[in-house]
Amino acid sequence: IQSKLPNVGTTIFTTMSVAAAQHKAINLGQGFPDFPMSEELVALVNEAMRTGHNQYTHMNGYVPLREALAEKTEYLYKAKINPDTQITVTPGGTYALYTALTTILQPNDEVIVFEPAYDCYIPAIELNGAKAVSLQLTFPDYKIDWAEVKKSVTEKTRAIMINSPHNPTGSVLTEEDIAQLREVVKDTNIIIISDEVYEHLIFDGYEHQSILKYPDLLKRSFVSFSFGKVYHCTGWKLGYSISSEYLMNEFRKIHQFNAFSCDTPKQVALSNFLKKRENYLELGSFLQAKRNYFQQGMSQTKLKPLPTHGSYFQIYSYEGLSGGNEKDFALHLTKEFGVATIPVSAFYQQDVNNKVLRFCFCKKEETLDAAIERLTKL
Ligand code: PMP
Ligand code: GLN
Repeated sequence: IQSKLPNVGTTIFTTMSVAAAQHKAINLGQGFPDFPMSEELVALVNEAMRTGHNQYTHMNGYVPLREALAEKTEYLYKAKINPDTQITVTPGGTYALYTALTTILQPNDEVIVFEPAYDCYIPAIELNGAKAVSLQLTFPDYKIDWAEVKKSVTEKTRAIMINSPHNPTGSVLTEEDIAQLREVVKDTNIIIISDEVYEHLIFDGYEHQSILKYPDLLKRSFVSFSFGKVYHCTGWKLGYSISSEYLMNEFRKIHQFNAFSCDTPKQVALSNFLKKRENYLELGSFLQAKRNYFQQGMSQTKLKPLPTHGSYFQIYSYEGLSGGNEKDFALHLTKEFGVATIPVSAFYQQDVNNKVLRFCFCKKEETLDAAIERLTKL
């Protein structure tokens, strides 16, 4: 066969998790919690299975779950979303992004992406025959240079992908960014693909600038979410997409032949879990406390933090410790110091070496303590 992705190897997450296991390193690389998920949610899944919710559910998602999501969306973002026509439950946020791109892209279309970019974006664009136009976020504050975006829009620009809170950097979009985005897309047919899987994981008084807050933008957007990411169960691979009725109708034409429907008992459980607002409202402060704990401990090491205002990642600089590139340094840390991280350079197409690594702090305190202790030896 002719490879569809000839220039792509194994994802950095697998590479670093395999290296972590091989060297018995503490894994602060791939983003997943090492503490148990909510007992209440586990009990709700159990109950859903025991009470017979084990067959295919509605193709677009268990109806009470979509209703609960619409209710949550109205409460958080004052958005009126029709659960019947505008929400589709998907097998994970990655799938929601991929299907959105497949829905809108034709060969040779261009999609503007910002690097560092979460690693599935560019392959998903290319698999759809389109071209990724990569723009770099500013360093070290990882902001979008909107003047550059304006210059990069052409008649082939079909979409702009945004991600806030941002993986891998933890930067967040502000109201000013949304105003700039609105300016860029006005009088065009550009679609916005907004990856909001970390919507609740936002700190320091920042407010999540969801596209759902802006009805004029939602009309031209697909917004992706992940239950796995926010409810500490990444292995569930369950998420959803929200869009306009028109765009969602096209999305569903593809979804029906690709996944058709998703895990029933977990959707039933989530529809009940979401009835308690604290189940999502408390996630931000829980993660902020972890960020603070980690950053405080890391001050004993020679690694220097860059600010993170969301997600469960923080970037640290090793400037002055090694001249090596990020991947080599990450492997060195894994092998020689027993701590696995993610080199941020893996999220760029070009060779970039800012001497920074991404750390996942969504871990038990004892895991963070043990990693910090190892890193003080650097
Ligand atoms: N987008 C970003 C930015 C992510 O970090 C992740 C992490 N898994 C996803 C999408 C995908 O989520 P899921 O695991 O639900 O596919
Ligand atoms: N989103 C997770 C991260 O950024 C990893 C998911 C994956 O392994 N594909 O670490």
